Amino acid sequence: MFDKWEIDVQLDITAGCQRSCGDCVVSFNSPMFISRAKDFNGLMSQCSEEFFLGNLILGPTDVFASNQSVDYSDPAVLEIASHFKTVTLSTSLLGKKIDIINHAEKIGKLFTQQIKLSIPVDLREVDNKKYRDHIWEKINLFEEHLGRPLGTSSRKVYFIGNLPTKQDDIDPNIFDKFVKDWGVQLDIAINNGRKGIKDLKPVFDNAVEFFTNRIDKVNNFPGALMEEGRGIDLLFRNGELYYMPFYNERIGVLDNKFKLFKNQDWTLDNLIKDINSLMVESMEASQAHPECATCDLNSRCSLFLIPVLLNSLDIETCVQPKEVMKKHGSYNQAH
Ligand code: SF4
Repeated sequence: MFDKWEIDVQLDITAGCQRSCGDCVVSFNSPMFISRAKDFNGLMSQCSEEFFLGNLILGPTDVFASNQSVDYSDPAVLEIASHFKTVTLSTSLLGKKIDIINHAEKIGKLFTQQIKLSIPVDLREVDNKKYRDHIWEKINLFEEHLGRPLGTSSRKVYFIGNLPTKQDDIDPNIFDKFVKDWGVQLDIAINNGRKGIKDLKPVFDNAVEFFTNRIDKVNNFPGALMEEGRGIDLLFRNGELYYMPFYNERIGVLDNKFKLFKNQDWTLDNLIKDINSLMVESMEASQAHPECATCDLNSRCSLFLIPVLLNSLDIETCVQPKEVMKKHGSYNQAH
């Protein structure tokens, strides 16, 4: 089915944001710059021999409304993007129509790749038809001025909700409603690790309940694992490269533990070595974990570095919606 494993990269070019989307945790200011682009481009050239270079995601805050950024038209960004099949831009599309038109026309000319949009949505507004129609109107406007269709026929955009720590008021049918009413499945982002690994603790305290109570037969948690969990996800930020663990989605964790090439050259061999040593650490952590050690989903979670996170956060219980995953038979199908 797949000839090559896929590499997707999140390239952080923005910090701070003029919007305030629901439960956002990435809108903190910090200087943003591109460095080690030569190392990164050399690495991607080597990777392209062995892997399929899929999606470059520009963000993490609104690329049209951040407080500090490397502009997406910067030659360094364009050169990095040239390795990938798709460029996805994070944007709320909440700006003025004229600004959206200008950005779409500029992006259509700058990038030759397939373009997708990653749009943060407020989970509490799932039934707000006016809000939904407004976002789709802006998507259609962007596409009209891009000069070519967005994304693929099955997926033009990603709707991304931030996993809320307070979730009593989140609709139990939220995933179904996004598919049926919004026309695209909802993805849930866990961005708290960008503030540091410890910020993931409250998220994992609530994640099982959130997913278990909101996923039914037609939902896609296991499907997402099978489709999105196949491959390698990296985060390139201010000259540092991080490996991304995977939960329901890839998770950016700005921690030394996930940093790659600490003392080595940026080569494919060293990338594989670093990832392998994280995998070994993950398997060892799973064997030492009270629940993971005897769990039949162990190999899947180990592959995605969940036990490394549990160990780092001193979490001794399972953080997966295990019953849902078993019901849908998602054991090792991700790889
Ligand atoms: S499903 Fe839970 S207990 Fe099993 S390996 Fe994953 S985190 Fe550990």
